[in-house]
Amino acid sequence: MAEAAGKSGALERYEAVIGIEIHCQLRTASKMFCGCSTEIDGAAPNSHCCPVCLGLPGVLPTINKTAVEHVIATGFAIEATVASTTRWDRKNYFYPDLPKGYQISQYQLPLASDGRLTFETSEGPFTVRIRRAHLEEDTGRLIHAELGGRRVSLIDFNRSGMPLMEIVTEPDIRTAEQARRYAEELRLLMRTIGASDAEMENGQMRVEANVSIRPRGQERLGTRTEVKNMNSMRAVERAIAFEIERQAVAIDAGETIRMETRGWDESRQSTYHMRPKEEENDYRYFPEPDLPPLLTSPEWLAEIEARLPELPATRRTRYQTEFGLSAYDAGVLVNDAAATAMFEGVLAVGPRLAPKQVANWVTGEYLRLAKAAGDGDRVVAPELAVLLKLIEDGIISGTNAKEVFAEHFATGMGVNAIVKARGLEQISDAGALGKAIDDVLAANPAAVADYRSGKGAAVGFLVGQVMKATRGQANAGMVQTALRERLDKGS
Ligand code: ADP
Ligand code: MG
Ligand code: ZN
Repeated sequence: MAEAAGKSGALERYEAVIGIEIHCQLRTASKMFCGCSTEIDGAAPNSHCCPVCLGLPGVLPTINKTAVEHVIATGFAIEATVASTTRWDRKNYFYPDLPKGYQISQYQLPLASDGRLTFETSEGPFTVRIRRAHLEEDTGRLIHAELGGRRVSLIDFNRSGMPLMEIVTEPDIRTAEQARRYAEELRLLMRTIGASDAEMENGQMRVEANVSIRPRGQERLGTRTEVKNMNSMRAVERAIAFEIERQAVAIDAGETIRMETRGWDESRQSTYHMRPKEEENDYRYFPEPDLPPLLTSPEWLAEIEARLPELPATRRTRYQTEFGLSAYDAGVLVNDAAATAMFEGVLAVGPRLAPKQVANWVTGEYLRLAKAAGDGDRVVAPELAVLLKLIEDGIISGTNAKEVFAEHFATGMGVNAIVKARGLEQISDAGALGKAIDDVLAANPAAVADYRSGKGAAVGFLVGQVMKATRGQANAGMVQTALRERLDKGS
């Protein structure tokens, strides 16, 4: 759709303004305000509910401490201000998936506010200001189905009361790519600090994009639409690009943009009208009377901050300064959790290996095979370390090592066993190499004559012949040196 946006020239005349709201399901054992288990994947409908998350009268909520700690940790990770006092508010609305008739949320005093996130884009690093991160509870799930020829709506309350964190940006984003990269970086951050598994496919991370456009040079913001139901990062980028283009075409045709909630239709690759947008005052927010304000002591906050692991941005910088990796390689390694684990794992067992060489193999062969297979769990770091040591010691060639690695990936067989079984040990024995070299020199008098008449390039051809004769097993460096020695001596 990015091409389409280019076609109408919309991006030359209009500037897009985008703000992102992300809901992440927090990683906890129990729900937000009751003791029900959060292990609802594949569970029978309505099997993980109690009077609290069913909203029955006469029950009281209790706060899940782990959920609060995840939001505080997120606050520190996005350089936000973490509140010393926060409170809970009721957001009132009627919908069948909300049995209480209100959602417990944080309105006026979010746990974290005023943060930022910086990430790489194709146009360089970009920073988005984050307005707030707060805690709330999820709703139940409506399923519209057909039963015995009748159209019915079914309700499953297993998800009701699951802990959610909502993270809202300022309208700082200007392109669909920046929006996607923001969501990707936030997903990586959530996983790194363990706040959320953030799988978009199963709804653990839901991205909503507020999109408006304005003529370039205009200060005032245009009217926005809100786009939902994007189930992948690709969908986020495409939906926003589509929406920018749609608004430009509408405005050019003299239409006005209405505040509305739109859905992304993956099969049609377009957005469609869902409903008019609610107004803030429709929700009649008021303080939750069943919960006391939440106080966060400085000691508690300090403890949570101290527990934070190394964050992605810090790790990328460290990989460059400590290991001399390029910014690009550091990015590829850190953006993929499996690649990070493999890189660190190999260095941990093989400390004498060159980090650059390890990074090349992880970002190259490892990720290539893992992507093709759809998973990379079949490789263990110690085996890759063994392989890289074999290359470094000149026991196998780089080319053969790739074959060994592919076989290890496919079968799980040990690297040493594969090298033995295939007879791939490199010939580094001077005597054995000397014989092969002498044979090649005898068989190629023309190339020898070329070299001696000043055509240095002939060496390359002769090295190739020796490699061929030894089925790639000769130590190429040794062959090169030995060949030159013999050629120079005889001239
Ligand atoms: P709501 O609660 O109705 O969704 P908010 O004021 O909380 O509204 O804003 C939600 C998101 O919309 C924020 O990320 C904000 O940056 C973004 N936003 C607000 N105004 C605009 C606009 N005119 N164009 C694009 N995004 C906007
Ligand atoms: Mg909104
Ligand atoms: Zn419950």
